[in-house]
Amino acid sequence: MSQVVIALGSNVGDTLANLKEAVSLLEKEGCGVLKKSKLYQTEPWGYVDQDDFLNGAVLIETDTPPFELLDVTQGIEKTMGRKKLFLNGPRNIDLDILIYEDEEIESDRLTIPHPRIGERLFVLRPLMDIVPDMIVPGLGSVKELYDHYHGEERVEETDLTL
Ligand code: ATP
Ligand code: CA
Ligand code: CA
Repeated sequence: MSQVVIALGSNVGDTLANLKEAVSLLEKEGCGVLKKSKLYQTEPWGYVDQDDFLNGAVLIETDTPPFELLDVTQGIEKTMGRKKLFLNGPRNIDLDILIYEDEEIESDRLTIPHPRIGERLFVLRPLMDIVPDMIVPGLGSVKELYDHYHGEERVEETDLTL
């Protein structure tokens, strides 16, 4: 079994229901959910003219190898009717594979660890909830990345839970 961290985001429709549905579909695909982060209301990143996101992250264990897991997460996005809009644009569900054990992968389809972990407070904050001591291969621990983050993104903790 491999331990994997997946980020979840939604800013279209019933965002909480969307995140919960994505987690339950991951479970149906054989991913055991070990930890769930709190959920955060966050300002959009990269393209600002859209609604706030609801963001969180889960630690899972799975036997599915990295590229097949990307097939799974993209399949879930498709099942949930995600429209192909544009990079960093509005979407009802976004699943990104952040960390996959100590794997370092760079290909057209898949980059692991996710290349923008350290630049995004809406990713680092939920990671601090579930895996503060995990090493992000090539970058250091989650806690170190969090401590080094110096941006000013708006990331507000909510009472909502996955
Ligand atoms: P960002 O990658 O900056 O978070 P995004 O989530 O808006 O942007 P998408 O449109 O969801 O981007 O995905 C673009 C492509 O990213 C996907 O087609 C997928 O092949 C690729 N990709 C590369 N690495 C990963 C990863 N670790 N997890 C998910 N998708 C990835
Ligand atoms: Ca993303
Ligand atoms: Ca994505």
